[in-house]
Amino acid sequence: MIENKVLLKDQIKYIVIHCSDTNENDTAEDIHKLHLSFGWEGIGYHKVIKKNGDLENGRPEFWRGAHVYGHNHESLGICLIGKGNFNKKQFNALKKLLILWKKKYPLATIIGHKDFKNTKKTCPNFDVFSWVKENNII
Ligand SMILES: [Zn+2]
Repeated sequence: MIENKVLLKDQIKYIVIHCSDTNENDTAEDIHKLHLSFGWEGIGYHKVIKKNGDLENGRPEFWRGAHVYGHNHESLGICLIGKGNFNKKQFNALKKLLILWKKKYPLATIIGHKDFKNTKKTCPNFDVFSWVKENNII
């Protein structure tokens, strides 16, 4: 059924930040291959931010992602490449994207994967709420 794969603008309650916890040189294409190998329909994230700060596309925003258990029907997912040692270029790219998305999806809450109650994950290995506050992303 194609209908339940669609993500409507009004359904987006969360913008979820992740880390890849993979090779530092990975790109969206590498994540795509990895997620295909899990038997998924390709990359589960909507955006990927590489180590050099480049922003790459994953799934289109109108397509439901595969990145957060129980919340894929109401969220967009951004993946920072790395385990948690993110650099300034990545944080700048993240900030730029979040400012854009907050204009597009004003009702969405920016949240780290680990901040959902039903996960034991530590991803993205930094305090997203504090960072969002410090950077005044509203
Ligand atoms: Zn995650």
